[in-house]
Amino acid sequence: MHTEIIHITDLTGSSAEISLAAAVIRAGGLVVFPTETVYGLGGNGLDAEASRKIYAAKGRPSNNPLIIHIHDPAEADKYAYTGNLYNRLAAAFMPGPLTVILPKRECIPYATTGGLDTVAVRCPDHPIAHALLKECGDVPVAAPSANLSGKPSPTVAEHVIADLSGRVDIIIDGGESDIGLESTIVSIGHDHEGEYLTLLRPGAVTADALTCVCERVVIAPAVLEQMKEGERPLSPGMMYKHYAPATPLVLLDGAPEDVLAFLQREQAERSCAILCYLEEMPFLKNENLFPVGGKDDLATQAHCLFSLLREADKAEASVMYAHLPDKSGLGLALYNRMIRAAAHTIRRV
Ligand code: AMP
Ligand code: MG
Repeated sequence: MHTEIIHITDLTGSSAEISLAAAVIRAGGLVVFPTETVYGLGGNGLDAEASRKIYAAKGRPSNNPLIIHIHDPAEADKYAYTGNLYNRLAAAFMPGPLTVILPKRECIPYATTGGLDTVAVRCPDHPIAHALLKECGDVPVAAPSANLSGKPSPTVAEHVIADLSGRVDIIIDGGESDIGLESTIVSIGHDHEGEYLTLLRPGAVTADALTCVCERVVIAPAVLEQMKEGERPLSPGMMYKHYAPATPLVLLDGAPEDVLAFLQREQAERSCAILCYLEEMPFLKNENLFPVGGKDDLATQAHCLFSLLREADKAEASVMYAHLPDKSGLGLALYNRMIRAAAHTIRRV
């Protein structure tokens, strides 16, 4: 398949490109588009055949459901049964990096939801994504991250081109994704105490921020721990090994000075790729160092993580080291992605 690559730096003057991309989606084709979290691989969410094509292009198991993207949070009502808590979440966080799981309406095929009776809904905050979704009109865009299954999510078009060239109709290059980690995913539950949110995947909308809208936020066990054999996660995507670099990644846990001393010894002994903090650079040999940002600059660390995992992998070192992130605020999302990239390998030093 020929893949057309469209560069958009400024939306004014790009309406013909947006119209073309929307027409391709409406006709059952696949379009990769930038969002503020990561790049998405979009198709017509109402068309079971288009969803099957998405799974095939990614090499993704078809029981791992897709997220439906809409240009206006109010559109969710056409595809799902919303309610008061959805409306409050939408008012607080949409458009933005939040995905809400809702009971699906009949128009959404099971091919899109991986056989589930629920559908994931998100309204991205990115001018190109917004223009494309608006142009798609009454077609919601089903889109997972635009990487091959098992690779880190793409945050620049070059990653997408490396993974999906020849597998999709159009790739829209809209520059770097701002946030760099996938959206926060929540589901809505009710019990005798009232309603609550379950955090299925942490992202830039943090657990603390969610608490401002709903007092009870429960963190799903799969966010922090490895699933046990035969266990069924609330979010099917949590089942799969994700973001795994080919070079084994080991996360280091310990006092900052002990971690630094360990890295210095390792650099003397073997070829290693190191995702280090900016502050550590003067104390390490400038060989296969991949600075992730300042120690306390979690936004930059999130922005850089997936790119650096791909870069560090190219060094073909025998091992890759990174710091075990703290679990507070945006750190929880970093922790969740990194323990999965490291297949839960943590070394205390
Ligand atoms: P991706 O689009 O690659 O970021 O993956 C989307 C993730 O959303 C999937 O891996 C699922 O874990 C999650 N997801 C999508 N739909 C549902 C749903 N109906 N229920 C629970 N999780 C979902
Ligand atoms: Mg993904």
